Amino acid sequence: MNILFMGPPGAGKGTQAERIVDTFGVPHISTGDAFRLAMKQGTPLGVKAKEFVDQGLLVPDEVTNGIVRDRLAEPDCSKGFLLDGFPRTLAQAEALDEMLADMGRKIDHVINLKVDRSFLLARLTGRRICKSCGSTYHVMFNPPKQDGVCDKCGGELYQRSDDTEEKVGTRLDEYSSKTAPLLAYYGDKGLLREVDGEKDIDAVTAEIGSLLRG
Ligand code: ADP
Ligand code: ADP
Ligand code: ZN
Repeated sequence: MNILFMGPPGAGKGTQAERIVDTFGVPHISTGDAFRLAMKQGTPLGVKAKEFVDQGLLVPDEVTNGIVRDRLAEPDCSKGFLLDGFPRTLAQAEALDEMLADMGRKIDHVINLKVDRSFLLARLTGRRICKSCGSTYHVMFNPPKQDGVCDKCGGELYQRSDDTEEKVGTRLDEYSSKTAPLLAYYGDKGLLREVDGEKDIDAVTAEIGSLLRG
């Protein structure tokens, strides 16, 4: 099964992806995670991405498309994939269509997590992530059992440097101007499935699960 998760920053894409990949047994591909890893390692890709990520701006399409193309060619993607946070521009969506056509594959479902902008600032500024395993928490809405410590692996939780009020404003503007138009692109192809992302985490997982089992 080939799945895309769409939705604004903070909609719950990563949280739901962690759960859905366990159920459906496909790899979770997050371009945001790929950039953060490259930035931490200081690779040329990381150095390039950092200029943009640190400002809350989208990384240029040529850079982003290349990492997705390489990742989709890896053997574990042969059984399907869950793309989280890609595509984010029309040019990326068109590039993805080409990559998949070259591989004789197609998108099965585009899940859009709908969350009103008014929810997103609180979700993003309260987000905490495990340094070791990448699990996502929220200080209010999904707190770990022990403050600052990952339930799953005991790792230390940190706050992303772009999850500040100032950067969130830029990221939401990037979403509205460049990514939101993709909903019509996939709607026209009959692939778009809307999910109410304002419900609690378990309810959203259940709704996505039933859509994918369709
Ligand atoms: P995205 O990957 O779309 O940016 P995340 O999955 O990282 O979003 O979620 C953003 C923040 O909101 C995280 O701190 C997460 O724990 C929290 N969150 C996710 N889904 C919900 C939900 N349905 N209700 C409340 N908080 C949520
Ligand atoms: P979010 O929680 O905002 O959905 P991500 O972790 O998906 O965040 O992305 C973090 C940052 O990485 C983005 O603000 C952007 O700078 C960069 N990024 C991630 N995916 C893409 C993409 N498909 N195109 C361009 N930039 C991207
Ligand atoms: Zn952990």
